[in-house]
Amino acid sequence: MKKMLIGDQWVGASDGRSLNVVSPSDGQAFDEIPRGTAHDVDRAVQAARTSLTGAWGQLNAMERGRIMMRIAQKVLDHEEELAQIEAKDTGKPMTTARNDIKVLARYFEFYAGGADKLHGETIPFLNGHQVSLLREPLGVTAHIIPWNYPAQMLGRTLAPALAMGNGTVLKPAEDTSLSAIRFAELALEAGLPAGALNIVTGLGEEVGAALSGHPGIDFISFTGSNEVGTLVQQAAARNAVKCVLELGGKSPQIVFEDADIERAVPTIVRAIVQNAGQTCTAGSRLLVQKSIYNKFVQRVAEEFSKVRAGTPEMDLDCGPLMNRAQLKRVQAYIDQANAQGIAVIAHGQIAQDAPRTGYFVQPVFFGPVPRDAALAKEEVFGPVLAAMPFEDESDAIALANGTDYGLLAAVWTENAGRLQRVAKAVKAGQVFMNCYGAGGGVELPFGGTKRSGHGREKGFLALEEVSTTKTLVHYHG
Ligand code: NAP
Ligand code: MG
Repeated sequence: MKKMLIGDQWVGASDGRSLNVVSPSDGQAFDEIPRGTAHDVDRAVQAARTSLTGAWGQLNAMERGRIMMRIAQKVLDHEEELAQIEAKDTGKPMTTARNDIKVLARYFEFYAGGADKLHGETIPFLNGHQVSLLREPLGVTAHIIPWNYPAQMLGRTLAPALAMGNGTVLKPAEDTSLSAIRFAELALEAGLPAGALNIVTGLGEEVGAALSGHPGIDFISFTGSNEVGTLVQQAAARNAVKCVLELGGKSPQIVFEDADIERAVPTIVRAIVQNAGQTCTAGSRLLVQKSIYNKFVQRVAEEFSKVRAGTPEMDLDCGPLMNRAQLKRVQAYIDQANAQGIAVIAHGQIAQDAPRTGYFVQPVFFGPVPRDAALAKEEVFGPVLAAMPFEDESDAIALANGTDYGLLAAVWTENAGRLQRVAKAVKAGQVFMNCYGAGGGVELPFGGTKRSGHGREKGFLALEEVSTTKTLVHYHG
């Protein structure tokens, strides 16, 4: 039975209840976490508030950065242990889990370096006045993260908030809390003062709702579904606090007839099967110019049919889906596409000896997908790729922008002018040109347009999101 962190105490839920932790690879429960309560959330918010006037709040920016650098080193020293925890909890291949832990460390390194580098300003004003703009923490920041990349998400959301000196409360996904708990132990060992980080595990509708609606918080960072994102923003509005929302995506790979095909194909396959398609930035739509459509999708099909799903130890291209509900959801999209008569171009395979009780789904590549089909517009969050032909540049742009989402896009062409024009016309928070980086790039500002959310994480911009300014006006005569 794991415990959660409130202040410097490792505690169970206030009412003693717990939740099973299930391995997606075989569907078996192997541990328990506390099912936190609204009372636990209240205590965690208070502990974060207290930290702001305690040891944590008294550290200067350079000292915060040093602690964060020590945390990064601790994570790297425990990379294999953390990767094993993450792989067991999520089912993802060991190689992916190891990479996720490296990225977690990288977030702390990057923002450790940023802690003392976001400066204020002086502003010319009336004679006899001196105006300075201070950069300050927001206060208590709340962080609600999903199950797809638990360790990476933790780093992405917490590292900038800690760098700016906030007191933080994290609610991990109920399915994947183990890496956060182990991380917090390591962070305390590295010298993070009590209350700077609090973790309350449990259910979204209990802990998540209590945290996002708590009057004692000053900010919410949320990553997850659009449905819950809307609830979180409503809760934030009631307390007049800012929220950053990282929601879904239906990101297009736009391939023109003059693309470097051999470079594009493996990247395109990886961008949808990575993490079994459970990536908000998965390249789930393959838009191909009509003149090369047949030839190109056949090349993608060759690669796609080599994809294998298996357990973490098998270390293949992807693992199972996260839970039974996700399996049902993805299977329903596949069944619907089959019922509509949408052709299957290729299938990946589930490893022969993968446990039958695991939440595995066979990766599938559909096309041509009609433009009004659910597969063309809705986020499946599974290893399902939808190919669609387009006529020309303007048709490609219209098709790319034809969903509610706007998170990532990629443009593949050897024509430099077209590359720029299309990249500028596509509505997305990031556009990759002749490459793709689903989830990658700690340094790169990231976030949504349209229904993919608002606000920015990653890069230096994240430091601005989790801090505020104070304008000091001094009359000196
Ligand atoms: P979700 O419910 O939105 O989960 C995200 C986080 O919000 C989890 O920590 C969740 O806790 C919490 N939560 C749930 N209900 C809440 C509430 N009423 N108030 C505050 N927090 C709440 O997502 P999901 O159910 O795990 O996945 C459903 C779909 O969301 C997926 O199929 C996918 O399309 C999308 N999704 C997107 C991303 C992304 O990165 N954009 C990531 C994951 C999922 P619990 O884990 O305890 O429910
Ligand atoms: Mg949920």
